[in-house]
Amino acid sequence: MSVPFIELKRFEDGFLDSWNAKVADLSANTRFIGGPEIENLEATLKQECGVSHAIGCANGTDALQLALRGAGVGKGDAVLLPDLTFWATFEAVVNVGGDPVTVDVSAEDLQLDFDLFCKACEEHKPRAAILVHLYGWGSSRIQDFRNYAKEKGIALIEDGAQAYGVTYNGKSIYEGAQLATISFYPAKVFGAAGDAGAVLTSDDELAHRVRSLENHGRTTHYSYGLVGWNSRMDTFQAAYLNLSHPHLKARLESRRKSADFYRQELANLPIRVVEAPAGYVENGYLNVLIVDSEKRPQLEAALKDKGIGFGIVYPGPMSTQDASPDYLKARVGGETAQRICSSVLNLPLFPYMKEDELAEVVDVVKKFYS
Ligand SMILES: *Cc1c(COP(=O)(O)O)cnc(C)c1O
Repeated sequence: MSVPFIELKRFEDGFLDSWNAKVADLSANTRFIGGPEIENLEATLKQECGVSHAIGCANGTDALQLALRGAGVGKGDAVLLPDLTFWATFEAVVNVGGDPVTVDVSAEDLQLDFDLFCKACEEHKPRAAILVHLYGWGSSRIQDFRNYAKEKGIALIEDGAQAYGVTYNGKSIYEGAQLATISFYPAKVFGAAGDAGAVLTSDDELAHRVRSLENHGRTTHYSYGLVGWNSRMDTFQAAYLNLSHPHLKARLESRRKSADFYRQELANLPIRVVEAPAGYVENGYLNVLIVDSEKRPQLEAALKDKGIGFGIVYPGPMSTQDASPDYLKARVGGETAQRICSSVLNLPLFPYMKEDELAEVVDVVKKFYS
């Protein structure tokens, strides 16, 4: 039996019918920009994420750029970011005129390394830093990052593109962030029917700036207090997310159950199934295996042979991409990120995986190591 790496079309009963009806209704009323769908979604996000402002925007990359611009980051400002993340984190810094400084990650939680972060702050005096909540959990030092940044006056932006539904000490991971961002890209945990994103904050002034920036820097319809751009969230995307939200709990539970199944079943093999640090409840975004880098190509071949999809998230750090040298201001460490990239492998994980699919994946991996 083949098992896809990701399969998003396992909709709940009646879901597609309600979506088709919604599309028909919005179209008949030409409700294409703004409106109650956006307001409802933003209200849901505020409530669920424990923040006082949620600002919808066009995608998760724009959310980062809005957060950076909102925090005042511009030309020539140093911005720290982890060497292990999705390329959008790096791009966002460059696109607002900042100078990226990559910092290595911790081998334990695979998130930004706090001690190296402090060292990089001393050396490079950044205006801002991006803490990425990668793989479906966050840093064991999250509170230290927040405290340190606050004390030093460094804007801390939390890239929560992959973190929807993650809790830390019983609360949304986004609660307590100065600025946090979400991506609703379809393959993320809370996915839209296209591109969408959001910026979260509990700071009124930052919220006001971000709200203006995502709509051309408007103060009124034809007067402009800032140079922003058009990053409004599409009404269809908000409507799709509003219809999906009642199912999110079940989707998260299904993901978490599968993530746990892998952990239990693969526990005694010579591989590491990475776990969220204490205090976190993961959202089951990704299965993350750390395997022997020399054996990885053979494991990939074995999975391919049996029709099991897999991912390599990510194959290379930020600091070694072809486009990096032109923009990279500095690189603080990076050996751990490189090692993770050479030894990571992700097994299939998506909502409503069937028991026989999970059993098949585990069976192929176990046989490989037997
Ligand atoms: C997906 C992702 C983004 C970008 O989001 P888009 O909605 O695709 O623009 C940014 N950062 C991280 C860590 C991501 O995983």
